[in-house]
Order: sequence, then C-alpha cells, then structure tokens
Amino acid sequence: MTNASNKTDILIVGSGMAGMTLVREVRKLDKDVTVHMITADDGAQYSKPMISNAFAQGKGADDLVQKDADTFAAEFSVTMWTHTDVFAINRSSKSVLINTLNGRDVIEYGQLVLAVGASPRPFTPEGYGPIPLPSVNSLDDYRHWRGEFAPGERILIVGAGLIGVEFSNDLVNAGFGVDVVDIASQPLGRLLPNELGQLLQERLEQAGVSFHLGRTIERMSVNEAVLDNGLKVSYDHALSAIGLVPNTKLAQECGLKVDQGILVDPFLMTSDPHIYALGDCAQTQAGVLPYVQPLMIEARALAKTLVDDPTQVELPALPVAVKTPALPTVVCPPAPGAKGKWAIEGVGLDRRAVFVAENGHSLGFVLTGAETKQRMSLSREMPALLAA
Ligand SMILES: Cc1cc2nc3c(=O)[nH]c(=O)nc-3n(C[C@H](O)[C@H](O)[C@H](O)COP(=O)(O)OP(=O)(O)OC[C@H]3O[C@@H](n4cnc5c(N)ncnc54)[C@H](O)[C@@H]3O)c2cc1C
Repeated sequence: MTNASNKTDILIVGSGMAGMTLVREVRKLDKDVTVHMITADDGAQYSKPMISNAFAQGKGADDLVQKDADTFAAEFSVTMWTHTDVFAINRSSKSVLINTLNGRDVIEYGQLVLAVGASPRPFTPEGYGPIPLPSVNSLDDYRHWRGEFAPGERILIVGAGLIGVEFSNDLVNAGFGVDVVDIASQPLGRLLPNELGQLLQERLEQAGVSFHLGRTIERMSVNEAVLDNGLKVSYDHALSAIGLVPNTKLAQECGLKVDQGILVDPFLMTSDPHIYALGDCAQTQAGVLPYVQPLMIEARALAKTLVDDPTQVELPALPVAVKTPALPTVVCPPAPGAKGKWAIEGVGLDRRAVFVAENGHSLGFVLTGAETKQRMSLSREMPALLAA
C-alpha cells in the first residue's frame, strides 16, 4: 500500500480542466495541504475547447499542450500518478485501488474528488464494427484521429450538435470535404430555434459543409455510408459526435448515488461526505453541465470547501460560445422542459432570439453575428442556474 496520507489529504481523480482548475484554486487558498492527483491519461494541461478549432489553425495535439504533467506537478506541489487508472473506491477504508504501468496499488485519501469527465456515446453502425466510430473528447483522441489525415480528404461527421458543427466548420476551413448526418431536422436542434438553426445551416453550407438532416446511417463500410434514404456518402475519415455520457461507473460501483451523472449537493458533495464530484461527471440540481464556465465556478467553491470553508456553488446563467466562424453564435438555453416561445429580432446574420415564458420572464437566449456582443448584458437578465 502506498504510504497512507494524513486524513485531510485531498485526492483528485482526473486531470481534465475540472481537476486541474481545482488544484490551482486550492493552492490559491492553501500552500500546505497535501494534494494527490491520479489520471488515466498523460496528465498534460490543455484547453479542450481549442481542439474543435485547431485544424484550421494548423495545430496538432502537441501544439495544444500548455504544460506537461511534471511541470504542473512541480508548480502546484502535487503528487501525480499519470497513465494510472482508478478501478475501485473502498469507502470504508477511504482508499482507491489503482492500476499503474507497474501493477496494482492502493492509495488512501482524506477527501476524494471525482473529476472523471464523460465518455463519448458509442456509435457502431451496421457493417462498421466491431469498434465504434472514432470520437474526439480528449487530446489523445485528437492526436490519433488527426494523425491519419491527408490534404483534401472527405470527412463524415455523425451528429450536428455543438461538437459536430464546430468540427464541420473547422474542417471545411482547413480544406477538407465535410458531410454531416443527423436525425434532427436542423443543426444544434436542442439549442436553437428553427429560424436560427436554418441560418446556421445555410452559412455552413456556403462554407462548404454538406448536410444530410432528418437522416440516419443505415450501414457503413470503411469508406462509404448508406443513409436511410439510400444516398451513398463516401468518406475517408469518420467522426461520431452524438453526445457524451458522464462517467459514473466508479461512483455507482462503490454505492454512491448516481442518476445521469454523479449526484452532488450544492457543496458538490456526493452521497458520501468524504467524496465530492465536479465537471462533466457531476449532476448538480441544475443537471449535468458539460461546459467550461460551470466547472470553473464549481472548482472555486469546492476549493474553499476542501480547505475548511464550506461553500455552496452559485451558478448564474452561463452562455456558451459556439465556435462556428461561419456564424458566430452564443447560446444560453432555457432549462429543459421550460415552457415559452422564442421572440426573434434582427436581420441578416445579426439576430437576437429570447425565449420568453407566459409570464413575460426571459428564460434563455441565442445571439448571432454582431449581436453576440450583448452576451454579458443579456445573461444578467436570465434566471440563475443555481442560486444559494
Ligand atoms: C471538442 C470539444 C470542444 C468543446 N468546446 C467547448 C467550448 O467551446 N465551451 C465550453 O464551455 N465547453 C466546451 N467543451 C466542453 C468542455 O471542454 C468540457 O466540459 C470540459 O473540458 C470537461 O472537463 P472535465 O475535467 O470535467 O472532464 P475531462 O476533460 O473528460 O477529464 C476527465 C479526466 O478524468 C480522467 N479519468 C477518467 N476516468 C478515470 C479513472 N477511472 N481513473 C483515472 N483517471 C480517470 C481522464 O483521464 C481525464 O484526465 C468542449 C468539448 C469538446 C470535446
């Protein structure tokens, strides 16, 4: 067993933006508390959102690395286990079981933080398997996927959500041919009113993207997909962007409460008072919030809690910028199931859509073109995601 830590030690599982931001926030408050980090990947610090506009800038995976694990560990006085998988949590002994390149070990914790992220929903069309279509949800994924491209090749993207449309814009801008297939009738179907979904589609089509909307893939070989209307789409590389599923297995197997994500209270505490969760794996009262701004705010509050100043997370309305240069767009969606109507103003590319409830309150918005400058002022008019 690796030397047991004293009972106030913090052990963070995951070195994504959630885990690393938490380390930085803890160190702002406390230079002395012992912090350990265990991560399945190489522990390099990078900004994940930069992956979906890296092609057009000619940036490979290594260009996106901000700090390697050793530099990060030294700067923030953290013990880091990289390429190390946590495969079980023993809550009664307050320890985790790990698989390293050198074998198995046990590490004890005082306070455990799960920052284990989410995994791409697997998509294995008939004729393609046995492994699912590639997805890009990490720097390693990007490194492997990008490594195989040659200029001018055709890329097939399955899914016209946030990640799918961002990659489609980036790849056409980088000179690739791009086809996008989605069962929905418009891009960003869950986030945009029809009119603005169509506008985004038109702009991406003008940039060179071919959309196949309201369609599914019936079968697929290594270089051709057959859609449910019989259309054959040839491709050199495919990307599945049909969504992410929070990583809940570790939490579930040790008896923590999970739903769509790992359930946490307003202090980000799980159903075990010594275990917390944040980032893409956590489900707050506002649901799973798989974006950067929420995890930054969560990390700030959790750092205080961990160093003995229990602090609830308060989340204002948090708009998300969609990185589609063909139509700069900012979305601040209403809560799922909210009732109301979109009121849309503006002309050309500069549009402002506000989702208004029957009582006249604004619940969400979408801004495009020059209107995106209004994102901060409009956000202040929206209901908070999590109020204290
Ligand atoms: C291409 C792309 C573009 C995006 N663009 C935007 C954007 O523009 N704006 C925005 O707000 N959001 C964006 N997002 C979402 C945002 O990047 C994520 O919400 C955020 O990076 C999630 O960070 P995380 O630390 O919670 O999870 P992750 O980055 O998934 O990190 C999880 C970590 O846990 C580790 N891990 C998992 N399981 C184990 C285990 N059992 N043992 C040890 N380690 C483990 C992994 O190795 C990894 O280090 C984008 C996402 C993608 C994929």
